Amino acid sequence: MSKARVATLWLDGCSGCHMSILDLDERLLELAGKMDLVFSPLVDIKEFPENVDVTLVEGAVSNEEDLEKIQKVRARSRLLVSLGDCAVTANVPSMRNPFSAQAVLDRAYVENATLNPGAPREVVPPLLPQARPIHEFVKVDMFVPGCPPSADTIYTVLTEILAGRTPKMSTLTRFGA
Ligand code: SF4
Repeated sequence: MSKARVATLWLDGCSGCHMSILDLDERLLELAGKMDLVFSPLVDIKEFPENVDVTLVEGAVSNEEDLEKIQKVRARSRLLVSLGDCAVTANVPSMRNPFSAQAVLDRAYVENATLNPGAPREVVPPLLPQARPIHEFVKVDMFVPGCPPSADTIYTVLTEILAGRTPKMSTLTRFGA
């Protein structure tokens, strides 16, 4: 039987949700018997591939690069999973939403700068007006709340999906857990 093609994506999040994936510890070896990790910040693959079975996405959509990524990833993924409160609700990244993008940049790069004040105009992708949850931009098939979702939750979600079942999220995790 061929293995499932699984990916993870890191948008505007603190990487805590990916740390939770690493907390699977020895269960990663068990999962490796059922799936191949074809793209992730945890592996050295530069281009998101075609025909991915399951993609877990950490983080909100906060800048133009995030938006390009999630649209490409959605088009190439059969099942898209919002992993963690930042992906599901925008959570911590949305704390900037009461302010304009320019006010946020000025605060970070001008008011708090002691050397070379000024917002970067190159390399750093332009901010969107607000940080927003993934499902406001693309269709999301499954929502896994938690900040971060525990390794046990991620293990159950993955094993259920790989077995062709739908995990019962309300018994697994909750917002802020
Ligand atoms: S949900 Fe929590 S752990 Fe995950 S990226 Fe957001 S702040 Fe970090």
